Amino acid sequence: MLSFWEKDVFLKKYDVIIIGAGFSGLWLAYFLKKYQPKIEIAILEAGTLPTGASTKNAGFSCFGSPSELLENIEVMGIDHAMFWSEKRYKGINMIRQCFGSEVEFDDCGGTELFDDKILFEETKEQLSTLNHSIKSIVGNDNHFFLDEHIIQNAGFSGFQYAIKNSVEGSIHSGKLINIMTETLHAMKVRIFNGVKVQRFDNELDSMKVYAENGLIFEARHLSITTNAFTKQLLPEVDLYPGRGQVLITEPIEGLNWRGTFHFDKGYYYFRNYRNRILFGGGRNLDFKTENTDEFALTELVQNKLEQLLYENIIPEHKNIRIDQRWSGIMAFDETKTPLSKCLNNRLSLSVRMNGMGVALAPTLSESLANEILTIL
Ligand SMILES: Cc1cc2nc3c(=O)[nH]c(=O)nc-3n(C[C@H](O)[C@H](O)[C@H](O)COP(=O)(O)OP(=O)(O)OC[C@H]3O[C@@H](n4cnc5c(N)ncnc54)[C@H](O)[C@@H]3O)c2cc1C
Repeated sequence: MLSFWEKDVFLKKYDVIIIGAGFSGLWLAYFLKKYQPKIEIAILEAGTLPTGASTKNAGFSCFGSPSELLENIEVMGIDHAMFWSEKRYKGINMIRQCFGSEVEFDDCGGTELFDDKILFEETKEQLSTLNHSIKSIVGNDNHFFLDEHIIQNAGFSGFQYAIKNSVEGSIHSGKLINIMTETLHAMKVRIFNGVKVQRFDNELDSMKVYAENGLIFEARHLSITTNAFTKQLLPEVDLYPGRGQVLITEPIEGLNWRGTFHFDKGYYYFRNYRNRILFGGGRNLDFKTENTDEFALTELVQNKLEQLLYENIIPEHKNIRIDQRWSGIMAFDETKTPLSKCLNNRLSLSVRMNGMGVALAPTLSESLANEILTIL
């Protein structure tokens, strides 16, 4: 039973309600407010903290490793692959420009490591073609280049070849969510946590949004940014969830390298965060089990991560303990393309980030914000 005061201030009719306070929802609110400061926005978030991928990832702002880009070209063709690469590149720059100093943005570059000679040779053969295509995006002839020293200098084992890229960066994902939330509060965007939306109805002149706790919100436009959990609200959307498991070690003395690293076509990724190894991946060990929206750890993936950690990444620090482990849930589809658009004048969505939402959410949300503002 709500009071007059509560209804008057908190449950009034908003211009836009956004469901989901991960990066997609926060960037969307940011650009809507930036381009139309008078707009009234509420974000409804099911968790006390955002509970999907945005605070659970490894803090990579990925441009993409060469073998991953080659796979993208195979799946979606060169034009589309470059289109999405450009979106990622712009997204990484937006993070840096808007919040870089607050989120430990480090443009350290990224490195793909290879233990498979055939995959390396195939990738190497295509590097100059890739660099040629990417030049117009990053403005650099030599975006991907062979790094002959990193493996030995870092003390990695089991890898024989490394290809570095010039534009990848790393961030502190928790700090990015935090500064964006603070910025949105200052812009007078209302964020309600602990509000899980059950359903919505398109009424004559508004969208009614029904939450599990009995609250009913109303807006002129509803935007859904619930990524892997979207089917609960829009069952017809084509996506499937994918879990990413991550671990972080205790601090290690004498780690003398920085940067973000990938191997096995991007299915494994690690970085040095304050002298700890943050290491995730292994979804490809058992897609059937890992294509789930359940937050959990499995022995299969965690054991493999530990094996690779001690044998390949820190072979000289076998006594180092794992400090924490967690999982996050992403959303994928077979075409590897996000879904970000207005479905009609009252409803839009920005979901299915295909494991690339750190880099893609800023650009996708900016475009969607512009689209929404033209129809509001
Ligand atoms: C381990 C891991 C590694 C990753 N690595 C990278 C990487 O290297 N590079 C990269 O770019 N990206 C990476 N990602 C992906 C990136 O984190 C995601 O693509 C991005 O965070 C997605 O943001 P989002 O806002 O779309 O979704 P989410 O962050 O999942 O946010 C969706 C929000 O919606 C809320 N929600 C869901 N249903 C409801 C409901 N019914 N009512 C109210 N709220 C609801 C959820 O609680 C959640 O907070 C990784 C992710 C993981 C887990």
